[in-house]
Amino acid sequence: LRTGEGRIAIIGGGFSGTALAIQLLGRGGGPVSLIERSEAVGPGLAYGTPCEHHLLNVRSGRMSLFPDRPEHFLRWLEQNGLNADPDGFARRADYGRYIRACLAEAQARAPGRLSVDRGEVVQLHPEADGVRMLLSDGRSLTAAHAVLATGNAPPARLRLAGLDDLGARSVQDPWAPGALAQVEPNDDVVLVGTGLTAVDVLLALEADGWRGRATALSRRGLLPRTHALRSEHGDAAIPQGRLSARVREVRRRTGEASWTAVMDGLRPHGQAMWRGASAEERRRFLRHLRPWWDVHRHRMAPEIGAALDRLRDEGRLLAAGGRLSGVRAEGERLVVDWRPRGGGAPVQTRAAWVINCTGPEGDPARAGEPLLNALLAEGTARTDPLRLGLDIDVDGRVLDSDGRPQDRVWAMGPPTRGVLWEVVAVPEIRQQAVDLAARLAPATEARPVAGRSRYAAHLDEVGESYLEHMAVALPFGLRMVTAGAACMIHAVAPWLFTQTASRAVTRLHAEMTARHRCPD
Ligand SMILES: Cc1cc2nc3c(=O)[nH]c(=O)nc-3n(C[C@H](O)[C@H](O)[C@H](O)COP(=O)(O)OP(=O)(O)OC[C@H]3O[C@@H](n4cnc5c(N)ncnc54)[C@H](O)[C@@H]3O)c2cc1C
Repeated sequence: LRTGEGRIAIIGGGFSGTALAIQLLGRGGGPVSLIERSEAVGPGLAYGTPCEHHLLNVRSGRMSLFPDRPEHFLRWLEQNGLNADPDGFARRADYGRYIRACLAEAQARAPGRLSVDRGEVVQLHPEADGVRMLLSDGRSLTAAHAVLATGNAPPARLRLAGLDDLGARSVQDPWAPGALAQVEPNDDVVLVGTGLTAVDVLLALEADGWRGRATALSRRGLLPRTHALRSEHGDAAIPQGRLSARVREVRRRTGEASWTAVMDGLRPHGQAMWRGASAEERRRFLRHLRPWWDVHRHRMAPEIGAALDRLRDEGRLLAAGGRLSGVRAEGERLVVDWRPRGGGAPVQTRAAWVINCTGPEGDPARAGEPLLNALLAEGTARTDPLRLGLDIDVDGRVLDSDGRPQDRVWAMGPPTRGVLWEVVAVPEIRQQAVDLAARLAPATEARPVAGRSRYAAHLDEVGESYLEHMAVALPFGLRMVTAGAACMIHAVAPWLFTQTASRAVTRLHAEMTARHRCPD
């Protein structure tokens, strides 16, 4: 049994939990426990992939772990000899290394404050002066506060007539280690789902030398769209009015600018728009717009789009809309029955494998996670009205079955999607980590960690070494002095240097803004 004055326990050591731990360590305060059931702390599901073909689906320039240091990830890429193009898409495995490096650095600066506990929390009980957690191996842990950073649950089991009889010929969780290892190079596969999980599976199969054909099926058969080669900036104003008026406004904007720019312009408003929508509007959005939103909002890197185009050109990928009706074994192969969208004649597809690519299960009651089951059964938590995750208040406190906020139990990341919607990717989660750390450790302002002077703290802030910072700051200063001298000469001789100073100020401002470009 471990107790700790003011201990904050973070359940889940993926990106969300790790980002929060780093933020907490950067502030004063008590001990922090990061509890993770898998071997790897930091990368989580998204960045723990060993596949070199899996790239980030957000540009490197927007993937810094720190919202106030937008270039931090780019600097790390540079320092590690990797492509640091802000518009590029780094490898997800490299991003996993970056998270681990940031955690190690935060630990080194706040020695002794973080303990990493391996184990799975299966129960959590709020008590008068803290929270008690039970781990699956029988250990227990107490803390002043617990944060659920349990992330993306495995996909819900595919329920399809005949599937359970196929045993090893179906893959229910393609993210489980070694899940695709038995697929032979010439095996044809049926992917159930056409989103980013299906794309990941295709890339992982190809990386292992697979040359078969894939039929990817979903209700509408929509594949994720591809990012533009360079980032674009769309209309950043928040569309007003009811859902239908907002949709009209977004359509109007796509007539004036590229749709990728319009989507990117909307992104910073995602949470505000979702929170401002009525329950009925949210339901209508999910019913009618979600598939379209998902493929346009969660796009893939251009390189990956090109790889899918190649597969299609080679006749090895068919993405189709339809409804699966059953599957049966026929000798060594499977026969998958499905009916195309729009009422075409039933189709039979022969393949060696059926792979579940439906993506993470959002509904906590269906996720099959012991901790979530216990929280719901005991009334410590409840699902949000749309069953996309857990219900929370505006600050992130988990609501109990009667809707009362739990003072000591918090949630962040994908489990808070039903309430915040735009909260499943790094640019939003890192901000959530900052906000939550400020609430959990409010008494102590963020301050340079012991042993770091104010000057070192500024270098940390901009992510540069002393010499790198000097190489940038000195030429800026010299140009300002030159422009200042021109301005003074202009003051006494107004016909001289009429635009020198104003041009210099404009240029310096533009360069400065580009350096500190806000990623969101
Ligand atoms: C395949 C994939 C690719 C993605 N790519 C990108 C991308 O390129 N860019 C981007 O911005 N976003 C991306 N995302 C979005 C992603 O959700 C977030 O970026 C982020 O990784 C979510 O992290 P998380 O820690 O909340 O969840 P997870 O990564 O799922 O981590 C949760 C952790 O909690 C642990 N855990 C769960 N329950 C318990 C328990 N009871 N006890 C102990 N440990 C527990 C799990 O083992 C896991 O390690 C991607 C998502 C996926 C699924």
